[in-house]
Amino acid sequence: MANYQQAVKLTNKSIVLTSIRQLEPISRAELAQTLGLTKATVSSLVEELIAEEYIYQTGLGKSSGGRRPLMLQFNEKAGYTISCDIGVNYILTVLTDLHGTIIHHIHKPFNTNDFTRTVMEIKSMIDTCMSNMNESPFDLIGIGFGIPGLVNKDGAILSTPNLDWVQSNIKEIFEDQYNVPVIIENEANAGAYGEKTFGAAKLNEHFIYVSAGIGIGVGVVLDGSLVRGANGFLGEIGHTTIVEGGDKCRCGNRGCFEMYASEMSLLNTFQDDVPDLEKLLVKAETDQGTREAFETIGHYLGVGLTNIIHTFNPERIIIGNRLAKAKAYLLPHLMKVIEEQTLPELRTDTEILFSDNYQYATALGLTAFTIEHFLTKQFEGSATAKTI
Ligand SMILES: [Zn+2]
Repeated sequence: MANYQQAVKLTNKSIVLTSIRQLEPISRAELAQTLGLTKATVSSLVEELIAEEYIYQTGLGKSSGGRRPLMLQFNEKAGYTISCDIGVNYILTVLTDLHGTIIHHIHKPFNTNDFTRTVMEIKSMIDTCMSNMNESPFDLIGIGFGIPGLVNKDGAILSTPNLDWVQSNIKEIFEDQYNVPVIIENEANAGAYGEKTFGAAKLNEHFIYVSAGIGIGVGVVLDGSLVRGANGFLGEIGHTTIVEGGDKCRCGNRGCFEMYASEMSLLNTFQDDVPDLEKLLVKAETDQGTREAFETIGHYLGVGLTNIIHTFNPERIIIGNRLAKAKAYLLPHLMKVIEEQTLPELRTDTEILFSDNYQYATALGLTAFTIEHFLTKQFEGSATAKTI
């Protein structure tokens, strides 16, 4: 009986904390009413949460007749997360508080093919981030990694076609080094979760996040949940065939979508120049040939998005990752294809937008996963209410 009561109490405590995170600032009375718990139960759980520094009391809220109530807020300064978006040609590492507010970020163009150098670079970035942390009750609560490749449901990296990594034991290396939980996610799935938790898809139940970088992957949220498929590999749309017998892809097949609509395909057009996206964006302002190369990418991106719309019937498609920088050149051409080739019933209800947050979507998704993992562990034995 005691164990059962303890589990119920933990569950209620977890639900009170989750509600404060979602509804803050909120008073004890509002919490009791929202959750259908007695005021005495809520007050006692709130006192514990304050003592343990998960939450704090803030100024006075609006009165509903009597004394103005004290309001409760989640203590975003109780700890920190570090999230690392490992791109094919860059690494982004961010330090955030527990609200997902970015406190420090480091972005470096980086050829990520050499595993050992990549690990050394990331350790240096993490150490710099940690030097920006103040003292806090929980310190660093975890590190998340976004990987451009196949990550199974257990967080194991199975394949990274655009990297030539000889090993992939990121989780073990960084858990040993920093002694905190390490979460590994596919970068597009993390991007979708970032947009759902902190970005442009907070209110969307059905949306697709398209990560368009060197490769192309998608994160799919349907009925409010990130869907992963049987093994966790759902969304490898970059390797669907768009031109049968077409250009050879690093995955071994020919004519893959990402050979025609990605940053890689853009760079392949200018092989002699050793260009990069930023230089090409500047060149496109004055050079017709460069502009046309972007427009071709926009066209093929439109073909892929048309397939996505017909397959998933999303409310919204959010295009993120590095190619989102080229919105001005891509958008008119991809919209032309979508307008011409999508069934009208599906087209009219699908909104296409480029992420405002394109650089950070994956990192912030990792941050959200890390915070949820931490809070679930803290209240283990209870059923922590999740937002997705
Ligand atoms: Zn391929």
